[in-house]
Amino acid sequence: MNNGSTRYPHVFAPLEFGFTRLKNRILMGSMHTGLEEAPDGFPRMAEYYAERARGGVGMIITGGFPPNAEGGAGGELATPAEARQHRLITQAVHAADPDVKICLQILHTGALAPTPDCVAPSAVKSRIGRYTPHALDDAGIEKQLADFASCAALAQAAGYDGVEIIGSAGYLLSAFMVRKTNLRTDQWGGPWENRMRFAVEVVRRVRAAVGERFIVIFRVPAMDMLDGGLAWDEIVSLGQALQAAGVSIISTHFCWHEAPVPTIATMVPRAAFSQVTGRLRKAVSVPVITSNRINMPAVAEMVLARGDADLVSMARPMLADPQFVLKADQGREDEINTCIACNQACLDHYFDGRQQVTCLVNPRACYETLLHYRPVAVAKRIAVVGAGPAGLAAATVAAERGHHVTLFEAGAEIGGQFNLARRIPGKEEFAETLRYFRRMIDKLGITLRLNTTVDAALLRAEGFDEVVVATGIEPRRPDIPGITHPKVLSYIDAILGRKAVGRRVAIIGAGGIGFDVAALVSQAGPSAALDVAVFSREWGIDFENHPRGGVTGVLPQVEKSERSVWLLQRKADALGKNLGRTTGWAHRMMLARRGVQMVGGVEYLKIDDAGLHTRVNGEPRLFEADSVIVCAGQLPLRSVYDGLQADGNRGQQAHLIGGAFEAVELDAKRAIDQASRLAAGL
Ligand code: FAD
Ligand code: NAP
Ligand code: SF4
Repeated sequence: MNNGSTRYPHVFAPLEFGFTRLKNRILMGSMHTGLEEAPDGFPRMAEYYAERARGGVGMIITGGFPPNAEGGAGGELATPAEARQHRLITQAVHAADPDVKICLQILHTGALAPTPDCVAPSAVKSRIGRYTPHALDDAGIEKQLADFASCAALAQAAGYDGVEIIGSAGYLLSAFMVRKTNLRTDQWGGPWENRMRFAVEVVRRVRAAVGERFIVIFRVPAMDMLDGGLAWDEIVSLGQALQAAGVSIISTHFCWHEAPVPTIATMVPRAAFSQVTGRLRKAVSVPVITSNRINMPAVAEMVLARGDADLVSMARPMLADPQFVLKADQGREDEINTCIACNQACLDHYFDGRQQVTCLVNPRACYETLLHYRPVAVAKRIAVVGAGPAGLAAATVAAERGHHVTLFEAGAEIGGQFNLARRIPGKEEFAETLRYFRRMIDKLGITLRLNTTVDAALLRAEGFDEVVVATGIEPRRPDIPGITHPKVLSYIDAILGRKAVGRRVAIIGAGGIGFDVAALVSQAGPSAALDVAVFSREWGIDFENHPRGGVTGVLPQVEKSERSVWLLQRKADALGKNLGRTTGWAHRMMLARRGVQMVGGVEYLKIDDAGLHTRVNGEPRLFEADSVIVCAGQLPLRSVYDGLQADGNRGQQAHLIGGAFEAVELDAKRAIDQASRLAAGL
């Protein structure tokens, strides 16, 4: 059954270019995965992209490849030998589906390149760059232009259908455009016509190198969020000049790595930035791509239908579910494993540099050649105890492989702690993961037994072949005098609203949950993640007038509850140090703007009617709190597993996963990954 074209007519309308054609309007946006530089990267990328091609996407843009050594962190495409390696990717994609187009992204990171040889228009060090770049002289500029053209020609020789040139985010081309990074007084600096010259010249050279029958996409900084960034008339004139220079498609980007505005995190409303693409689309005649927080087919259809764009780019949603487009086309959108914009396994891994990019909800992402969910020869009867993220992942992977799975859950609904997470303002997307698992339970014929608290005796009695224990955690209750005082709440009570929270709130513990609870109790009015107007007020964005950078430059107006909130920890370090690398700063900034006071170095002495008595860095301090919410970490809940162990094996193998296995530094990423890998081998 294919009903995508009736349900999502705009998404499934082909796009003609004369020399080529896109079969639908969804492209997989560029995501740097680290495989670009990895020794075994090419075969892995070939399968990673081929899987997405089989999943129905119209066009794929690869992760970024620098055109020369000074442009990035290795992995450049600068020689015919390097181009030959890329054939693995292009052949795999075209073999998977000849109608799918694949373009190579040329990424010159300029001052952000992690090499002392990095180059930029001027010797201005980026706050997040490692080195002060060398200012390019005339010969250096000529070399860069030639390298871009040569890289595009090599991409064409390697079998790509086109290239995307990234001209945004603070990388080389955009650094020419912005005054604070371009201090030149020659023909490449000063007035806007000069500052955009390099980008336009790159396109002209690339077009000359590849001829007319090759896709050239340019990613423009459509809203860079920089105080003093690009003005709207500059963006329009850039788009028009790029069009005249020969681009086939303009892609709008809403990002500058240093800008203090979240643009893709889960706290950003869906499709918040597409209206900007819509305005640019009116000023140019080539097709225009929009992006950012478009994670379901209905959202893509909506932005296309209202004329905001000709094409929709989705990067992280394609990590989360390679079959996204196919499922939309077949009316199976409720089976889409939705990207929840957490950044935990994709961008955080990339910027951290120590772990392979993958996806919290799909641990197979970027492991397509290594992690397989193969059908089983002999189906076993498997019990999974606990329907939190770990149990849900184990149950669905085991059932997908053909096992007979019974999933037991003590509560009245599936989800475990994700049912708490989804109630936090800015984490509403977490509900999508539970919708996905609910549908999979149904589709895969898993027997779900809710309201059933399991013990070892029940599991023995029912005679399962294997038992997976995913019973999660219990909150830690610190041993503070007065911890049983009526004003003390657990985070579960606070989030579920089981007990009223007063006007003055002290939160014990400032880990991920402490921060989330602080966000919840300091929230007033609608969640910014669900309301573009609130989001833009909170982050100082002016979508309507589009001042320079799109930001007002005045102190953002933050809506906050009337509560006084203290967020406390024992460590003397800065609070929130261990939050997500690419999102933690936004959480800290949001709470600070709401007046949440963050205090480290706290020793908890007692809780009584007066409040929470402490010593802060050795000095006595009373927090006159009406409510004390405990977010002091968690302990594994292992009674079921211990019961099974005590009872002896009796031919029924037991496995322990998720929080029940290890509560320290547990998160859903680790829980789902561990569960999926276990179930892949059952
Ligand atoms: P749980 O989610 O704790 O699930 C265990 C399940 O087992 C429960 O449903 C329980 O009822 C059931 N159970 C227990 N005993 C029995 C029994 N005897 N019989 C039957 N059923 C039983 N993680 C992230 O990665 N990113 C985030 O942004 C994030 N935000 C969070 C926000 C909040 C407010 C909270 C509370 C947690 C957040 N987490 C986040 C943490 C994440 O939710 C947990 O790491 C994850 O849920 C652990 O999964 P689990 O399956 O091991 O355990
Ligand atoms: P956590 O991150 O380990 O934080 C626990 C907090 O409690 C810390 O601030 C700790 O700091 C404090 N604490 C620990 N023992 C204590 C004690 N005995 N008495 C008083 N305070 C104590 O755990 P969590 O906040 O419960 O979160 C659980 C997991 O969920 C985390 O590992 C996290 O990864 C995940 N999560 C992630 C996100 C996210 O956005 N990625 C959001 C929520 C949750 P001190 O010891 O310094 O006081
Ligand atoms: Fe999306 Fe999170 Fe997966 Fe990244 S890790 S693709 S943000 S769900």
